[in-house]
Amino acid sequence: MHGLMQEHPLLVSSILRHAARHHRGARLASLDASGRMTRSSYPEVAARAAQLAHGLARLGVRRTDRVATLAWNTLPHLELYYAVSGSGAVLHTVNPRLFPEQIAFILNDAQDTALFVDASLLPVLEKIADRLPPSLRAVVVLGAGQAPALSVPVLSYDQLIGGEDSDYDWPALDERAASSLCYTSGTTGEPKGVLYSHRSTVLHAMAAIQPDVFALRALDTVMPVVPMFHVNAWGLPYAAPMAGSGLVLPGPKLDPASLHTLFEGEGVTFSAGVPTLWTALLQWLQAEPHRRFAHPPRLVVGGTALPVAVTEAFLKQYGVSILHAWGMTEISPLGSTNSRKAETAHWSEDEFLRYSRKQGRPHFGVDYRVLDDAGQPIAQDDKAFGELQVQGHWVASGYFNRAHDHAFTEDGWMRTGDVVTLDPLGAIEIVDRAKDVIKSGGEWISSIALENLALKHPDVAQAAVIAVHHPKWDERPLLLVVPKPGTTPCAKSILGIYEGQVAKWWVPDAVEFVESLPMTATGKPWKAEMKKQWQSYSLP
Ligand code: ADP
Repeated sequence: MHGLMQEHPLLVSSILRHAARHHRGARLASLDASGRMTRSSYPEVAARAAQLAHGLARLGVRRTDRVATLAWNTLPHLELYYAVSGSGAVLHTVNPRLFPEQIAFILNDAQDTALFVDASLLPVLEKIADRLPPSLRAVVVLGAGQAPALSVPVLSYDQLIGGEDSDYDWPALDERAASSLCYTSGTTGEPKGVLYSHRSTVLHAMAAIQPDVFALRALDTVMPVVPMFHVNAWGLPYAAPMAGSGLVLPGPKLDPASLHTLFEGEGVTFSAGVPTLWTALLQWLQAEPHRRFAHPPRLVVGGTALPVAVTEAFLKQYGVSILHAWGMTEISPLGSTNSRKAETAHWSEDEFLRYSRKQGRPHFGVDYRVLDDAGQPIAQDDKAFGELQVQGHWVASGYFNRAHDHAFTEDGWMRTGDVVTLDPLGAIEIVDRAKDVIKSGGEWISSIALENLALKHPDVAQAAVIAVHHPKWDERPLLLVVPKPGTTPCAKSILGIYEGQVAKWWVPDAVEFVESLPMTATGKPWKAEMKKQWQSYSLP
């Protein structure tokens, strides 16, 4: 016997409809690349998204067509989020910081039919102008700027939406229909497309606003610092209107001074971003003792591990709490957060701060298992390593345009490629990426653990550990170090940091000093490139 309850498809359009009806007073603000501030509201965004949906139809965009964006966190980008998905097309957000070849590859792989480009990103378009996909029908420029000569019509956003009706009958789509497409940044290989559905997006947003995740309320003002081209800004453009929170979209200027001005001036209570941003903000605050937060915001960090020292300084010096989250493009991205639970409720602040280095536990809707090389579950002893696999309502089941990928197991799990330990409370701690772990004589060495120790040396600004070939042990660790300006540390003193801290066989075989480390477009150390550069390195 079925229950006697209504069924409505879980659709992206329903989120904005809710916000526009019930959170008319929430304040929205957006800074564009030229520094101009625009203010808006959910009813206004809904009206403009409706105009845009009509405009898209005029361009010939049909259901399931992909519509690409090369844009910052701005109001027009938010309107695209809702107009494209809401009308049944697929929003394809593209990271403008990727190499031109990667952008061209991604646009052609997705076969986009329209491309919306922020005027400040027209130079990026120029670099790929001769490699646009044959499926492309039009380019639309957000803001004022001169587009390069193209074989398709170019129009401005205002021209497109200008005269259109501000009412649109959002279709009752199948909730399993594709809503957006985002490519992994390719840190460990070719970019692969992850195709989200309306259902996965709505369920992910519902999970994101929960108390032990982002804890969003209608009283919050949310500033997504994580770009809207990177895993849908971690779902915030959906979660904030769902909760009725205000939204501050900071545009491309993410330096500490600009961010602090927005935090203070716009009354931001919640923000999310990668460690480099928060570390830079902390250093900027510390440089001048009078800089503070009138109302300390809550921050979420993820993407790479954040040193506990940064979390501690934010909390103790500025009253700013940082929640550590783990996720990936393939899981929309939220996988786990490290917030307190029954067993940790009574821990002291310092005890929990130390624990916050871990990525935490999954929320309802996703689950994990951790398997060793032999496919057996690892012990929950904080020591054994294994590969993290996930399943859930917002976890990918395959990649766009790829028949099969070894990331998906026969029994319905996704292999994350992350190597983790599990503690007795079930929290994961990322030890490494499977591709970066150093396999020495059949045993695994964590490159991340070695990097974190190297960073404790007073003369080390950046550190990366990569595997290099060894005739006897197969692989051995090589430590690459960018020294702090004005210092000339020696290898011996740096390796001394490992004494008594790790097993002898973990200590890197050599140290090489470099001026900089290659980084990916999402600001992560680019290990694949480092390995390529050092592949013929012979150990002493
Ligand atoms: P890419 O895989 O191209 O780097 P993603 O943004 O999808 O792009 O990155 C996901 C990966 O980032 C995860 O698999 C994990 O290795 C890493 N990651 C995410 N969050 C954290 C975190 N809190 N701590 C350490 N690593 C993290």
